[in-house]
Amino acid sequence: MILSLPVTGVFTTNAYFYIDDVTVHGFLLDPGAEANTLLAVIRQKGFTIEKILLTHGHFDHMEAATEISDALSVPICMHEKGRDYAENPRWNLSEGCGLYIKLDDVNYLPDGSEIALEANQAFSLAMHHVPGHTTDSVFYYSAKDNVAFVGDSIFKNSFGLTHFPGGDEGTLMQSVTGKILNLPEKTILLSGHTEPTTVGAERKRSWYAPFL
Ligand SMILES: [Zn+2]
Repeated sequence: MILSLPVTGVFTTNAYFYIDDVTVHGFLLDPGAEANTLLAVIRQKGFTIEKILLTHGHFDHMEAATEISDALSVPICMHEKGRDYAENPRWNLSEGCGLYIKLDDVNYLPDGSEIALEANQAFSLAMHHVPGHTTDSVFYYSAKDNVAFVGDSIFKNSFGLTHFPGGDEGTLMQSVTGKILNLPEKTILLSGHTEPTTVGAERKRSWYAPFL
């Protein structure tokens, strides 16, 4: 089961629950704000969240992570390059918005990590490094469910901004076309800020043509 929930802090960001229907255990991706709203959903639905997964270290994807991690006693996971963002409010962009957000207890994982539920090892997501929007951006992929949680690397009808610390447009284009748009065409792409799209739909955009 996938549940999408837009949460609003300075910006509105899509948080996602990716939940195993059998055990009702699962993952919470990008809790960008509204910790109390997300905790209420977890309680109401009876979800057991085993891990919080971040697609990248921008504050609008992780502002509620520490509060939820503390409330549920679950780890926060992100790519190993995420330390630059987690520990630096200028890099995670919170400082520019008058906030001062830091994460100090994070499991930093290498590219290719397979993240499985303790309650059901067959339910898992694979972390794939796709730098460009940030140096630590990843997508989390399930081949079984044909879904990729892509953060801000690619959106419906657009792609991620690259003028923030660690961003690079050439690198982003290589990541998006070489990794995300190489997934099966029917793969559903769930982004940080737009409606769902698919690999097949995004491969047709003219701006990717020189790279495909
Ligand atoms: Zn971002």
